[in-house]
Amino acid sequence: MQCIFCDIVERKEKAEILFEDENIISFLDINPFNVGHSLVIPKTHYENFLDVPNDLFGEIFSVVQQLTKGVVHGLQADGYNILSNNGRAAGQSVFHCHFHIIPRFETDGYKFKMDLKKYGNGEMNLIAEKIKSAILF
Ligand code: 5GP
Ligand code: ZN
Repeated sequence: MQCIFCDIVERKEKAEILFEDENIISFLDINPFNVGHSLVIPKTHYENFLDVPNDLFGEIFSVVQQLTKGVVHGLQADGYNILSNNGRAAGQSVFHCHFHIIPRFETDGYKFKMDLKKYGNGEMNLIAEKIKSAILF
């Protein structure tokens, strides 16, 4: 199976690497929303967020936070978006779980706003119940 991020981990594909340890690697996104747009990935190939073992998230989010500090302070960003697209419907294009760190500037003009939906009468409670009954700890 061909995976561009696995190729980066294995150094078969070039990338501007920012950080690496035993389990995680971070590098610049090749097509940035803003310069400095970075990615953090587990080195092991997991297709998306739900496939990643729960006990790896402490480490992953610790790296995401450290990287964000570097991006924000190093580039004097005014803000930042941290996001993960999962599944084609959500815009995932590389099917190896990753987190985007996107530096934002007051003047960059991006708007991530979508059309907001409204809940019908009693629907909020129904939806909450559906979610709660599917949570497994
Ligand atoms: P997704 O669309 O799956 O949320 O994010 C995938 C990201 O990977 C995109 O922002 C895209 O620009 C980036 N990307 C795709 N191929 C490469 C590559 O070969 N090298 C690097 N550094 N980034 C890549
Ligand atoms: Zn992969």
